[in-house]
Amino acid sequence: MAVQTVASSPGTTPVDLGPAAGLSCRECGHRVPLGPVFACEECFGPLEIAYDFSGYDTEELRRRIEAGPASIWRYAPLLPVPADVARKPNLHPGWTKLAKADNLARELGVTGGLYIKDDSGNPTHSFKDRVVAQALEAARAFGFTTLSCSSTGNLAGAVGAAAARAGFRSCVFIPHDLEAGKVVMAAVYGGDLVGIEGTYDDVNRFCSELIGDPLGEGWGFVNVNLRPYYGEGSKTLAYEICEQLGWRLPDQIVIPIASGSQLTKIDKGLRELITLGLVEDRPYKIFGAQAAGCSPVSAAFKAGHDVVRPQKPDTIAKSLAIGNPADGPYVLDIARRTGGAVEDVDDAQIVDAIKLLARTEGIFAETAGGVTVGVTRKLIENGVVDPALTTVVLNTGDGLKTLDAVAPTSGPTATIRPNLDAFRAAGLAG
Ligand SMILES: *Cc1c(COP(=O)(O)O)cnc(C)c1O
Repeated sequence: MAVQTVASSPGTTPVDLGPAAGLSCRECGHRVPLGPVFACEECFGPLEIAYDFSGYDTEELRRRIEAGPASIWRYAPLLPVPADVARKPNLHPGWTKLAKADNLARELGVTGGLYIKDDSGNPTHSFKDRVVAQALEAARAFGFTTLSCSSTGNLAGAVGAAAARAGFRSCVFIPHDLEAGKVVMAAVYGGDLVGIEGTYDDVNRFCSELIGDPLGEGWGFVNVNLRPYYGEGSKTLAYEICEQLGWRLPDQIVIPIASGSQLTKIDKGLRELITLGLVEDRPYKIFGAQAAGCSPVSAAFKAGHDVVRPQKPDTIAKSLAIGNPADGPYVLDIARRTGGAVEDVDDAQIVDAIKLLARTEGIFAETAGGVTVGVTRKLIENGVVDPALTTVVLNTGDGLKTLDAVAPTSGPTATIRPNLDAFRAAGLAG
């Protein structure tokens, strides 16, 4: 990977992003000040936010969080955002339902407590509103005027909406062949939307070029040059799950993988809660879920490899269709270190799982949710996920955006003329 620094300067005014103390390289630990950079100048490794949490009193922090707003901003003391973030124009995502899924638990034989963390309830109906909200604050701090991204669909909509609300221009990039629900959501907020003839990996490569070119000057790409800030948004899933369980760690979490950012940051969030004393220090297992048609991380996990071999995606789970996932090696490390696993399910199993979740819990998930529920079922059947332990499964998006996946097998039970004889003949009474 080439080193990418942004053409536009971070500006001369010092930025105040709460407890964020700087950027630190995940490979070599090299530290640099906060700015719109994402790759280490020493070793090209990815940069992430380093914090100074010293001086926090655990009980006082817990009280402050519990008294905070019903959004991700209740965790502002643990995020790279200014203290007055809740007063700035934004979409206030997060604090979504953690649904106890007793019906699904019965079907799957789970006795230790099964929960769905349902992020379809976010403002643009996917978990991406969490990450965009963080990147937006960084964009404000660094003086960017245009918000952009390379997207598998949900991110484009989340950026469009957040930019509209906060008064930024937006121009987002997607593969040309996405679901209608994703394309419309990306366009309706009035920003510019560009379809690229190619896969997500082509879109991402194009955006990296644009950042290095004068054409992209003044642009904040939420998942490229603002990626360290963006990633922190996923920590709020870890915080919410634990707080909603009564400040308790779950034993097992099943998380979908596209680039792998979300999974790595949920692990980071859980470790922070342990460090801060907000939850008890005990083991948890992290499981990654992919679609068989785009399963580079799952393939590497099963083969015992540390490197991830890129694939060309071919799956209905388009939101997860990243053939060359940036955080793949870190995901492998976390799955192995926590005693978890990475598994995949095929398109038919994804559709079955979407319908299983809908039929048992009244939650209509997008294909990514079909992937996590399907993988959970498979891992229970294989004896990898322990049904006697508390398990949280993520649903990261809304089924209304991926109607095509279930439309062929979800229609009327009968279509009849409007009279009782016709209804009787259909055999549905009683
Ligand atoms: C983007 C996305 C993910 C995961 O993204 P990562 O790149 O792995 O952080 C999961 N589910 C949905 C619905 C998404 O849109």
